[in-house]
Parts: sequence; C-alpha cells; structure tokens
Amino acid sequence: MAQDPKAQAPKTQNKPRKEMPSTPLLDQLEDGPWPSFVTGLKRLATSEDKPYADMMKSLLGQLEHSYQTRTGYWKGGTVGVFGYGAGVIPRFSEVADKYPESKEFHTLRIQPPAGMHYRTETLRKLCDVWEEHGSGLIAFHGQSGDIMFQGTSTEQVQPAFDAFNEMGFDLGGAGAGIRTSMSCVGSARCEQSCYDEQRALRTIINGTLDDMHRPSLPYKFKFKFSGCANDCVNAIHRSDMAIIGTWRDDIKIDQEGIKAYLAQHGRQWMIDQVVTLCPTNAVSLKDDDTLTVDNHSCVRCMHCINVLTKALSPGDERGASILVGGKRTLKIGDLMGIMVVPFMRLESDEDFAALLDLATRMVDFFAENALDHERIGEMIERIGLVNFLEGLGLEIDPNMIAHPRTNSYVRTDGWEAEAEKWTQRKGPQAAE
Ligand code: SF4
Repeated sequence: MAQDPKAQAPKTQNKPRKEMPSTPLLDQLEDGPWPSFVTGLKRLATSEDKPYADMMKSLLGQLEHSYQTRTGYWKGGTVGVFGYGAGVIPRFSEVADKYPESKEFHTLRIQPPAGMHYRTETLRKLCDVWEEHGSGLIAFHGQSGDIMFQGTSTEQVQPAFDAFNEMGFDLGGAGAGIRTSMSCVGSARCEQSCYDEQRALRTIINGTLDDMHRPSLPYKFKFKFSGCANDCVNAIHRSDMAIIGTWRDDIKIDQEGIKAYLAQHGRQWMIDQVVTLCPTNAVSLKDDDTLTVDNHSCVRCMHCINVLTKALSPGDERGASILVGGKRTLKIGDLMGIMVVPFMRLESDEDFAALLDLATRMVDFFAENALDHERIGEMIERIGLVNFLEGLGLEIDPNMIAHPRTNSYVRTDGWEAEAEKWTQRKGPQAAE
C-alpha cells in the first residue's frame, strides 16, 4: 500500500533532540532595553527543524559554564581551505566531553563587497549556505569588515567556502598578513564623498591579495577607505594605512541655502552650532547674513558641512589624504594615523596606479623593517617618522608632526638653512 507522503515526518523530528540547557547567568544579559546576542543564540538553538539546533544548545551550555567558572574554553589550531593560508579562525573546545555538539566552532571570514552593497537575494543565499554548512550565526561585519560566519565543524569548512566562492565571494585575511578591507558607502550614495572609495579598495586589495591569502608579514596590516573626514569606517584609528577623502580648494557655499537655515533656526543657532564650533575659527557670519569661510585656516574637519548639508559642500578639487599607523592598544597604546600624504588626486587610471604603488611600497617597507608582532605605527615610533618617510621616498613637510611639542625650549641652530631648503622645494608662495 502506498504511503501518504504527509505522514512522513522530517528526519530531524524523529531524532531525539538535545535538551535546552539551563542558563541563568546568560538570561540576565537579556534584561534591559537593548537587543541581546543571547536571544539570537536561543532562537537558533530552538529552531528544532534546523540541523544546527543541538550545536547551538551545546554552545549555550559551554558559554554558561564559562560565565560560571570565569574561564574561556576555546583554543586555536590549524584549519583551512585548499590554496589559502588564512581566512579561517579555528576554535576547538577544551570541554568537548561536556558539550560535544559544539566541540568545533570555526569561523570563516569572508570579504564583503566594497561599500557593503548587497542584493537581498545575495543575503538570502549567504544565509542559506550557512544554514546548510554552519550554525546559522552570522555577524555583519567584523571590525576589519569581514562577514563573520561563526560556527562550523572542520569537515564543513571546505564545502562552505566552496559554496561562498561559487557565489563570487572570497576568503578574507587573518594572522600576520594583509587583512580584509572596508570602505564607506561613499560615492555610491553619499554626496560628501571626495573620491571613488570602492575603486580604491578594489585596486589596493586586488593588488595585495597574495599577502592576504598567504600571510608572510611581521604582523597584520589593514587598509581602510573613507570618503571624507567624517571617516565612517574609523580609518584613522583602526587601519595601518587610511585613505580619507578631502579637498584642497574652497568649501562651496550656497548663500540662499544659508538664508533658508537662518530663516528656520535663527542667527543665534547658526552662531552656536556652526561658527563657534569650527575648531579653527574659520567660519564667520556677516551682518548681512552671508556666511564666509577662511579656507586658508580650514582644516577640512567636515563639521560645518555636516550641520549645513544643504548649503555647504566640499570643494571641486577633491582627492584623499593618506595617514599611516593607526591601531588599537598593543605595545605602545592606541595610535591615530599620522598624515604622510596631505593630498593625492584620485581620478584617473594613473592616480589609482600611484595609490597602489604607494600601498605596495608601504607593505614592502613594513615587511622588511618591522619586528615580529609589531604594527607599522609602532615601527614608525621605533625608527622615527623621518626615517620612515625617507625610506618610502615621501616628501617631508613641517606640518607632519607625531604629537605636539612638550618642551618650550628648542635648539634653533640649522633652522635657517632648513627653512630655506623647504621654501625652495615648496616655492615662494609657501613662505608667505
Ligand atoms: Fe571649520 Fe571644519 Fe568647516 Fe573647515 S570644515 S570651516 S575647519 S568647521
């Protein structure tokens, strides 16, 4: 007799499922107004028709155990995919006997598209792949920009990567090499963008990809791309080489737009919110209600443009500043990037080729001169900014300072000669 197909229950329903662990400490993290990662983990753990439900229950059990004992139980190892030396973060449990379903919980770092643009269809497919090969747990995005596919077994790493690769995605960086990069949404949608960030990202990353997939540097090296000084991707303090959009002519002012702001908010608002908050006192509001900017004093911080978006915009001569050495705490504390190229035009093929040339020279210099486990910012502190700039053949400018002077007594012998040399290099206008 033919069986009624509706009577056939899915395989997962026949299999006895693991009990949901008791998690009193984790439950406390769900209190309060903000979304909790614990709620997300529980949702995956209670998706009884999904293959990863038991793995997530086991993970919750181990996490609760960690909170109880105040100890982490993950250790690293070596897991990878064919042809790549990085991009998978291996995690093996040290308490696998207690929580066997999550004994392996590796992460795949996948490079995002420049500017983080996805079609909904692509996002759905990414989720489907991870539901099939992993835990269903995804983080958009890690600090370096990666899509973090968290939680899979050693056996499933290669099939998961193959499926992502089939969609056109590639593994990102990990370890001592070039790391995954990110750019702000930039020229695709933002009117303040000063260069094509997506193109700059792809040019540099495609040109240095070998050092990402087969890491051989002293330590990590990150590039980040922001279209203006608002720096939406934290390039100045979270990347070794930051490419930040700027302009070198005058801020564009629409006086009719200024009048509209004055009509809406009043003169005092304009003075409080724009004029007095300019860090260099470059903005003035005249008696006749026109706004002027002393462009010589402007440091391109973006504040006035952010407040008066409909009346002010960056100038027409746009490009990028290059800063080097930003990083979080390591050997010598947090560092912001040091300006090494005040302005670089980024329009033509030649401009982008010059940017890639600078990036590869920077990486080569880092590879040859940095100590093991030393970021480029720390290397510059150790060898001196002047030596770094000379090593790269970058023009030295007195405006490049690592930090303000702390001693009011300075030796001035040799200054005249140096000032003369600088004036000759820059032309007579610089001395004015
Ligand atoms: Fe002042 Fe910043 Fe506006 Fe320049 S961009 S005028 S420094 S507020």
